[in-house]
Amino acid sequence: MLKFGGTSVSERARWDTIGRLAQQRADEHAARVLVVVSALSGVTNALTAVAAGEGDASAAIEALAQRHVDFARELDLDPDTVLGERIARLRALLVDPRFEARPYDWQAELLAQGELLSSTLGAAYLGAQGLDFGWCDARDWLDALAMPNQNAWATRLSVNCIDARDDAWRRRFASQSPRMLLTQGFIARHADGRTAILGRGGSDTSAAYFGALLSARRVEIWTDVPGMFTANPREVPDARLLTRLDYSEAQEIATTGARVLHPRSIKPCRDAGVPMAILDTQRPDLPGTSIDGEAATVPGVKAISRRDGVVLVSMESIGMWQQVGFLADVFERFRRHGLSVDLIGSSETNVTVSLDPGENLVNTDVLAELSADLAQVCKVKVITPCAAITLVGRGMRSLLHKLSEVWATFGQERVHLISQSSNDLNLTFVIDEADAEGLLPELHAALIDSGAMPVQDAGVFGPSWRQIVHGHRVREAPWWMRRRGELLELAQAGTPRYVYDLPTLRARARALAAVEAVDRRFYAIKANAHPVLLRAIVDEGFGLECVSRGELDHVFDVLPRIDPAQVLFTPSFAPRNEYAGAFARGVTVTVDNIEALQRWPDVFRGRSLWLRLDLGRGDGHHAKVVTGGVASKFGLPAPELERFAQCARALDVRITGLHAHLGSGILAPSHWREVHADLAGLADDLGTVETLDIGGGLPVPYKPDAEPFDVDAWASGLAGIKAAWPRYRLAIEPGRFLVAECGVVLARATQVVEKQGVRRVGLDAGMHTLMRPALYDAWHAVHNLSRSDETADTRADVVGPICESGDVIGTARMLPAGTVDGDVMLVADAGAYGFAMANTYNLRPLPQQDVLE
Ligand code: ADP
Ligand code: ASP
Ligand code: MG
Repeated sequence: MLKFGGTSVSERARWDTIGRLAQQRADEHAARVLVVVSALSGVTNALTAVAAGEGDASAAIEALAQRHVDFARELDLDPDTVLGERIARLRALLVDPRFEARPYDWQAELLAQGELLSSTLGAAYLGAQGLDFGWCDARDWLDALAMPNQNAWATRLSVNCIDARDDAWRRRFASQSPRMLLTQGFIARHADGRTAILGRGGSDTSAAYFGALLSARRVEIWTDVPGMFTANPREVPDARLLTRLDYSEAQEIATTGARVLHPRSIKPCRDAGVPMAILDTQRPDLPGTSIDGEAATVPGVKAISRRDGVVLVSMESIGMWQQVGFLADVFERFRRHGLSVDLIGSSETNVTVSLDPGENLVNTDVLAELSADLAQVCKVKVITPCAAITLVGRGMRSLLHKLSEVWATFGQERVHLISQSSNDLNLTFVIDEADAEGLLPELHAALIDSGAMPVQDAGVFGPSWRQIVHGHRVREAPWWMRRRGELLELAQAGTPRYVYDLPTLRARARALAAVEAVDRRFYAIKANAHPVLLRAIVDEGFGLECVSRGELDHVFDVLPRIDPAQVLFTPSFAPRNEYAGAFARGVTVTVDNIEALQRWPDVFRGRSLWLRLDLGRGDGHHAKVVTGGVASKFGLPAPELERFAQCARALDVRITGLHAHLGSGILAPSHWREVHADLAGLADDLGTVETLDIGGGLPVPYKPDAEPFDVDAWASGLAGIKAAWPRYRLAIEPGRFLVAECGVVLARATQVVEKQGVRRVGLDAGMHTLMRPALYDAWHAVHNLSRSDETADTRADVVGPICESGDVIGTARMLPAGTVDGDVMLVADAGAYGFAMANTYNLRPLPQQDVLE
């Protein structure tokens, strides 16, 4: 049983694939093959518009006729012979007496033409290629099933079919020849003998009915993506292929919005025990997704999906508090209108439900009628369009603690309804459709980062869409692989220790130094203040940025001859004497509030300074590194600029620089360009500004599948904006980007312990050595340097020796099975905010540091 979707039947080459696959299946299993096809892509959309009375019907029908004639020619078929009758039938629907009133039976007949045309063309083409293919009308085999309480629309245009048949039906089907048959998806026979439709995307379900009725070996859904993914791959390129699913999870993913499989297609196969597969017509060799009853159950989030066009109906009781029968009253009215309710939220006086546009006709007429009816028993409010965003996976309830980042992401949107399914398979958030834009990639990343989506489980999670489409990006091997011998030797001198590779540091510095649009570069020394590193960075032409008196003192100790003009002082909530000390050193001071000027006028009078602004928004890899917006302590809100300027003028203070730094680990290269544009606009108002400082925040690819930051795209964005405001010097303040990848932590395994199924590898490095995992849930690769030639095939949590549950360097990491105490372990990309944040908690000593030339 093979089903091919719209894009799989719209090109000649795809039909060659269809023919080849069908023949292969027939030969392999000496079996009958039934091929179900959709309409050519876009055709059902066009027919739906005509059915709804939108646009010029005859122009639309002529365009469709022409499209099929052209395609017939592309297939080297004679259009008149093959399509003459079908196109006549299509045109006849426009002169049909029902055309004006457009009743549902007429609409069904019109919609059916897409599949009838495509299957007719396909059968003729496959026959012409010498394949022994027959054609049959699906309506002769699939009968619509009348369901209780269905409204007229659903009984005709969103039908289910009878899914059990007697032997006579089977014998009749088996008597057809030849062995390979082509038929239509999407259409069935109504009890009145006319056409019924299975609903948008319903061809999958046609295939499933046929597969179940015929006890097929397998139902294969051939489409334009190589399987079901953890999210719509077109919206989330990092979505991972789900290689194996059980029916329940597949059902949940399909129901909650993954268009790749029609939600009603799973039950027939599940009941009949027929396995399903989702495969890609363009990449037929990829294994795709298998769905069956035997897939191992892995707890965790498997997918995130989104449904648009969701309608929320909020009903406020106008009667008594907790009035008996209120729910019965309102639901009775939904039943009366034949509307099926999806999600439900309730309180003592309010019940809010959602209507899914896939299951209901929810146009303005239907909603007006429903509202009028409901108004008799409650106060009604309709909220639309909404988007329902659903996390799907087994054991959602026990995952809540891992979802803090997900909650944080939603924290910025208005959530109308949260619903947790009683089968513990999904958690759904309903928000305004406009707010859902761009949210899925963020949520998907948060699910992986938090460990809620266990992507390391290779039994379920395959490659990402990005990897499939672009191939595996070859990333330069990290420096520590080449220098393994030296590192093992250094570890002899004691662990834990940080080791820094200067060539890597220089390479990063030079990449930024080459960006012409940038006039001034300041390294934020808080990331790593090692003297050798500071000197190397200054040698590459960078200035230094300090945030405390201690950092300033350190800079002038390490580099006594540094020009103070090359040093910035950008503190946060520092005491008065630190500002005074910084002015005394002659460095550039940045202020970010009015109160400092008001309280300490003598410190600032007659000085020049830079002003740090809060542009009203923030960004970054974790909530704790977002440094803009109301919730952040940094920066003067932009609307207060004028008040600050007045205060500054009164003290004869000159604002020569504007600065904004909104967060860290920001992925969009456009971010800095936008910051620059905002600052330039404000600087124009002030008239005294010479320099715009757009901060740092450049990301580092900590994870193996992360994309390295696109410095070129960033540079060209800046060049464009610089050209628009050439009068300002452009300054940046990178920290992490320069030093993260040059540093590693060397540690020794202390103990390897297996506790109730969880294996833990303990290190002598922990949260006191490298705080980022505990502080930000940061991800750092962990390797067993002593056993680099052994395969890393055993899962373990990597923990430190501190008496804190949070002392975890990494969870569910793959390490060699033979890992034992004494092995030298390496934690990668630890050069930024590593040693700088190390501490002596539990009275464990600070780590050692080495620099490799
Ligand atoms: P066909 O015409 O072959 O039936 P559809 O357009 O109905 O194809 O379904 C395939 C599309 O489903 C993909 O192109 C993809 O954009 C979308 N899709 C949405 N969610 C998912 C998901 N989780 N996994 C795979 N595809 C998805
Ligand atoms: N052609 C129909 C649609 O686009 C059915 C399908 O392709 O599954 O909705
Ligand atoms: Mg489809």
